[in-house]
Amino acid sequence: MTDRLHIVGGGMAGSEAAWQAAEMGVDVVIHEMRPKIGTFAHQTGNLAEMVCSNSFRSDDDEQNAVGLLHWEMRAAGGLIMAAADAHRLPAGGALAVDRDPFAETVTARLREHPHISVTEEEVTGLPQEGHWIFATGPLTSPTLGEAIRRETGADSLAFFDAIAPIVYADTIDMSRAWLQSRYDKGDTEEERTAYINCPMDKDQYEAFIDALLAAEKTEFHEGETATYFDGCLPIEVMAERGRETLRHGPMKPVGLTNPHQPEVKPHAVVQLRRDNALGTLYNIVGFQTKMKYGAQTSVFRMIPGLEEAGFARLGGIHRNTFINSPTLLDEQMRLRSRPNIRFAGQITGVEGYVESAAMGLLAGRLAAAEMQGRSLPRVPQDSAMGALIHHITGGADARTFQPMNVNFGLFRPVDGLKGGRRGRKDRYKAYTDRAKEAWSAWLANS
Ligand SMILES: Cc1cc2nc3c(=O)[nH]c(=O)nc-3n(C[C@H](O)[C@H](O)[C@H](O)COP(=O)(O)OP(=O)(O)OC[C@H]3O[C@@H](n4cnc5c(N)ncnc54)[C@H](O)[C@@H]3O)c2cc1C
Repeated sequence: MTDRLHIVGGGMAGSEAAWQAAEMGVDVVIHEMRPKIGTFAHQTGNLAEMVCSNSFRSDDDEQNAVGLLHWEMRAAGGLIMAAADAHRLPAGGALAVDRDPFAETVTARLREHPHISVTEEEVTGLPQEGHWIFATGPLTSPTLGEAIRRETGADSLAFFDAIAPIVYADTIDMSRAWLQSRYDKGDTEEERTAYINCPMDKDQYEAFIDALLAAEKTEFHEGETATYFDGCLPIEVMAERGRETLRHGPMKPVGLTNPHQPEVKPHAVVQLRRDNALGTLYNIVGFQTKMKYGAQTSVFRMIPGLEEAGFARLGGIHRNTFINSPTLLDEQMRLRSRPNIRFAGQITGVEGYVESAAMGLLAGRLAAAEMQGRSLPRVPQDSAMGALIHHITGGADARTFQPMNVNFGLFRPVDGLKGGRRGRKDRYKAYTDRAKEAWSAWLANS
């Protein structure tokens, strides 16, 4: 093994990828454009800089999917988790981090590693030769973004996300909602019942519009201009254009019959579409939004059938460069059209510091093993790592692909356990037990 692994971007994903590969004995070069070229969000030249909040979210590895991801990264000797643990701040059940010492520690450990060198340069194209991991994140430099777009095609690279809220299927009240595609379209029963529909009468609709208009909204970050297209306008902006706009747009009531009240024509209908192959997650169609998270929960629970909804993720619109991983990447995170190139981190369509570092961890290990002439066993789908990589490289619907946080909706259900809110504690414990076992076995065999 004479080659070196080139990692572009020394953020959460690139730093973890470099560490994992170097610890496996592979020589690594990190190409990081900062501090020579900055972004609107980064402030320093440190590797693994946290650009906004200083939280790694929940550290509960029994009842929370992010906490489980922490556990799996610690078990794999992850640098990001080691540095986070070393600079932990009091924050109840969350893992909050003293951001500057955290990033300084990651930077120092990488720079001191005998198998790692760091070059401060912008990479502007996708190389034909060598082993590469691109982990350039949500703020990938524009020149590189253009090069990726040329390789992948314009439809497969986005510069903004437009995330509609995602609901756990088992928290939808099906005594109010029903399954039906508009005009019963589709060749199979599955297609004819592909949507979950939630009906509103006139009073409910008017109250919903009032709540949308009154809700607190998030501002765009400085430097993050709001150039979303008409096709993905936030619902509150549609509501501002006129009280009937939503009823003629995503909430139009046509082609649908409510089997619970077939004689009553709904005034408006909210549709939810399946968001993963497992059928455990549904997104609210056309409901991308800039409402604050607290406001979203209360406004969306006004929708009949969603009064008790649990949200796997809430909506948002951000500056975010990401590729259509379900079509572009194989299960080893390699670009299908150029297998010498892997992608990792937020650019693959995961979201958040922890998820990005996790995808870096996998990419680093997979690339290093390949360079050493070994092939690792398939990442187990029952682990949090596996649930996430499986989602972005195959489980998600490529046509509506948007960035995803880790959550239990991505996990295969465990048989024989109670659904809904009541069974949640036992179910989550079963997921995390199963995940830890699967992940430990994978690490032992890798
Ligand atoms: C404004 C903003 C706020 C956010 N707030 C949060 C939050 O509060 N919590 C959270 O969990 N997540 C947040 N995120 C998402 C978070 O940034 C990512 O989840 C995480 O940092 C992604 O890790 P990454 O390694 O994929 O990308 P990054 O950490 O962004 O690292 C990418 C690196 O690549 C470098 N780079 C880019 N282009 C090139 C190039 N051509 N050549 C060389 N280097 C290059 C960049 O300088 C950067 O260092 C936020 C994102 C943004 C944009």
